[in-house]
Amino acid sequence: MNTIPDHAATQPTGFDEYPFGPDKPEEACGVFGVYAPGFAVAKMTYFGLYALQHRGQESAGITTFAGNQIHQHKDMGLVSQVFNESILDKLTGDIAIGHTRYSTTGSSRKVNAQPAVIETRLGYISLAHNGNLVNTMQLREELLKNDCNLVTTTDSEMIALAIAAEANAGSDWLAGCKRAFHRCQGAFSLAIGTPDGIMAVRDPYGIRPLVLGTIGTNPVRYVIASETCALDIIGAEYLRDVEPGELVWITADGLTSCRWSQQVPKKLCIFEMIYFARPDSIMHDESLYSYRMRLGRRLAQESLIDADIVFGVPDSGIPAAIGFSQASGIDYVEGLIKNRYVGRTFIQPTQAMRDAGIRMKLNPLKDVLMGKRVIIVDDSIVRGTTSRKLVRSLRDVGVTEVHMRISSPPVTHPCFYGIDTDSQDHLIAATKSVEEIAKQLEVDSLAYLSWSGMLEETREDTNGFCTACFNGDYPITIPEQLKRSKLMLETILT
Ligand code: SF4
Repeated sequence: MNTIPDHAATQPTGFDEYPFGPDKPEEACGVFGVYAPGFAVAKMTYFGLYALQHRGQESAGITTFAGNQIHQHKDMGLVSQVFNESILDKLTGDIAIGHTRYSTTGSSRKVNAQPAVIETRLGYISLAHNGNLVNTMQLREELLKNDCNLVTTTDSEMIALAIAAEANAGSDWLAGCKRAFHRCQGAFSLAIGTPDGIMAVRDPYGIRPLVLGTIGTNPVRYVIASETCALDIIGAEYLRDVEPGELVWITADGLTSCRWSQQVPKKLCIFEMIYFARPDSIMHDESLYSYRMRLGRRLAQESLIDADIVFGVPDSGIPAAIGFSQASGIDYVEGLIKNRYVGRTFIQPTQAMRDAGIRMKLNPLKDVLMGKRVIIVDDSIVRGTTSRKLVRSLRDVGVTEVHMRISSPPVTHPCFYGIDTDSQDHLIAATKSVEEIAKQLEVDSLAYLSWSGMLEETREDTNGFCTACFNGDYPITIPEQLKRSKLMLETILT
């Protein structure tokens, strides 16, 4: 528990291994904020973060404001590991900001856990960030020139410092924030706490999601969250999305909103819809479960093959597998059982355990699968290493044919906007044809969803999405230095 920010704490963990983790892109972060005098704001934030745990499992933190007093607790680990009842009781106040993190910029250390807290002339600011800046190096140099004291290695701290610099130069919160955001390039959905109120902000393209909710009546109180599933868990009502380029300011006087950036085309990350966000979250007026089922139906129309059963890779491949079954008439079964209690483990496995890796998390149902021709549906393939192990485990239990169907197009480019998709040379589809990938994965056939299928099934403007990891068409220019190696930035900063 810190009644002043533990800005100087450094706690290298030394444990960056994820030996049984899925071969999947990793989400960057979940953010949550609440302005609710009279409510147990720390507890609400705890449960909000609990619902957003899928967006980051490395660290979690909550800051509360009680007037000008600030309280904070953050640490490495899952939300349920970082907080307990007695810690939450000490996080008093009317305002809370929360964060759950997976690192994409800045290494995996306690000092990089968020929210980032900075003291300014106007009081403390607490900032929770989902996304990734692409001009971090430039911003860092500007801040260092102005004698800013950089403590962490995160781009999120740099956004907070840029706001603090503006506040210290005489701006009020709103003017200072707007000026600071103009210095930031990249993806950022922010929940910001101050002694006076909370802010919800999205970058001009709206790459990462951010929603507003209400709780209580007379007076109504406001909640900010990365996804609607975090509103549901605390009984808040979904009000609306925070618009790309919008700044929402919530104080004792209620909610005000302004556009802080020029209007540019919306570019929500399509991968949020395909895989990252929870299936029970609402985007574009429907649950992502419904969208993912439609992807499966479309996939069946595009690449049907004769088989006995169809099943999905738990959990994210399941809605598409159900859709595939509905459209094809092929029986849907649960072919793989997931151990839901396997998370990030910090204990090094033995080599024999490494060899058995996939079964730590997914175990094939032998009596259901033996002697069958199966269609296995997954949402994406990144490196392909886990998929191959999975296919071998199916052969081991007597599957006679394995047909893999993927409910998105091939991932050919890395993400620079807050998702860890690995560098391009590790992406299997960047260098191999579909036939070559099928051979490497040892499947009898492989098919991906078409580009048009993925976009048309959104039932939205098909230009309104970032699709760069499928075609390299980055809506925000990526500096060459950052393009050359996704690892470069981290190497320089740490
Ligand atoms: S590059 Fe891919 S993962 Fe990154 S924001 Fe764009 S669509 Fe999403």
